[in-house]
Amino acid sequence: MSINLLTRAGLRPLTAIARAGSRKYRPGLSARNVVPARQFWKNSTSPAQEATTPQEHLVHDASNAGQFDGKSSKNLAVSIDGEPKIFDSIFLRDSCTCPECVDPSNKQKLFQTCDIPENIEGVCQTIVDKEHGWMVEVAWQSDVPGYSSEHRTKHSINWLKRALTTEVELRGGVRSDERVVWNKEIMTKNNKWLDYDDYMANDHTLFEALVHLNKYGLLFFKGVPDSEKSVEDIAERIGTLKDSFYGRTWDVKSIPNAKNIAYTSQFLGLHMDLLYTANPPHLQFLHSLRAQSPGGSSLFADTFYAAAEIHTSSAFHFRTLCTFPVTYHYHNDSQHYHYTRPTIELFPYPKYSEPTNLAIRRVNWSPPFQGPFEARIGGENQSALSNYLSASKAFEKALSSEENMLEYRLKEGECVVFDNRRVVHARRAFDADEGERWLKGAYVDDDVFFSRLRVLQEKFEGKWVSDGVTREAVK
Ligand SMILES: [Zn+2]
Repeated sequence: MSINLLTRAGLRPLTAIARAGSRKYRPGLSARNVVPARQFWKNSTSPAQEATTPQEHLVHDASNAGQFDGKSSKNLAVSIDGEPKIFDSIFLRDSCTCPECVDPSNKQKLFQTCDIPENIEGVCQTIVDKEHGWMVEVAWQSDVPGYSSEHRTKHSINWLKRALTTEVELRGGVRSDERVVWNKEIMTKNNKWLDYDDYMANDHTLFEALVHLNKYGLLFFKGVPDSEKSVEDIAERIGTLKDSFYGRTWDVKSIPNAKNIAYTSQFLGLHMDLLYTANPPHLQFLHSLRAQSPGGSSLFADTFYAAAEIHTSSAFHFRTLCTFPVTYHYHNDSQHYHYTRPTIELFPYPKYSEPTNLAIRRVNWSPPFQGPFEARIGGENQSALSNYLSASKAFEKALSSEENMLEYRLKEGECVVFDNRRVVHARRAFDADEGERWLKGAYVDDDVFFSRLRVLQEKFEGKWVSDGVTREAVK
């Protein structure tokens, strides 16, 4: 890391501080310290102009006698946008990114939070760095064992500001949510087709694809090469494929006496894949290699739209779908998967009012893979089960209504990608005797999808999102 310091007030080693006595220690120019703090934080000149004002951004507050006078302190008050903001020294120490604290090559943290002494205190000054702008530089009293008195922690004012904003937004339940709920009409207007070659060659197109998938949960490709490897190439452009007992990639075609309903030619109702696993796949890819047999078109529906409809028509049904446990299983051959989840999952944040605000985290809907109910099945709980039956009828009706479903018959050389935790898919029956029908599929996990999305958000927009909170990509 190359840090070019324009200004750096001399920090004496802690041993020197101890010798001199904390009262007498003056980091930086002591003459500056007599200037009232308020004047510092109202100053809005550029870092270059301020190069001769080393204690800019440091603030005295009533509870903290440290900082200007060089005394160590449990908290650090920093002026951010003209307001004094308090940071806990434990937080500042824990988030140190110096090469002694975070390995520069593998980015792993080299100490444990629990190694930080409870009585840790910092002595602070501000510096200006060419790359990062204004920074606070902290020397530690009773540092983590093993660190020398030369150890310094540096945080840019911008980074501290970002940390504070994130904390406030997480606490307040603010959700930045790009997702747009859709029915057939909305999706027909907003449906996106991307060219395979363009997507494979340009990061901008990849970003466009991921943003669209995040928004609508559905995307189509054309011009996909007639190769069994193509679906893998499309998925790997995002990241590692999710393996499952179906294989890294898998085939959907008619097989006589199929063990799985997806491998037959009959109608396959609206569902999601692998809900009987702990972490079902986020993205599903289906590449059409052969589409010779009549029929077999795909149907897609946004479960969030249906959930919003239910919420409007019956808060009682909505609540039932949020709470009633539904068991999914795959118990066949040498496999036995088993998982229970409610139909609608909400974000665990306190502030949401309407599901159309997208407080919905995900929806679970996969009737073909349901197992027997295991909870609330006894005589005393008949109302719970019958409530679920009514709610599931209403939900299925909303999902599969003509106005909500998008129907499309994939042609050879086309590929569809959809969010398997939001968009349900179905397939109309086809005539296997009239010609070949062959789709090749793959999955990608949510972690992989969001990792690539964040990398590209940071690259193209200078910000990234996690837990619904947008972070400026500051250093
Ligand atoms: Zn460090």
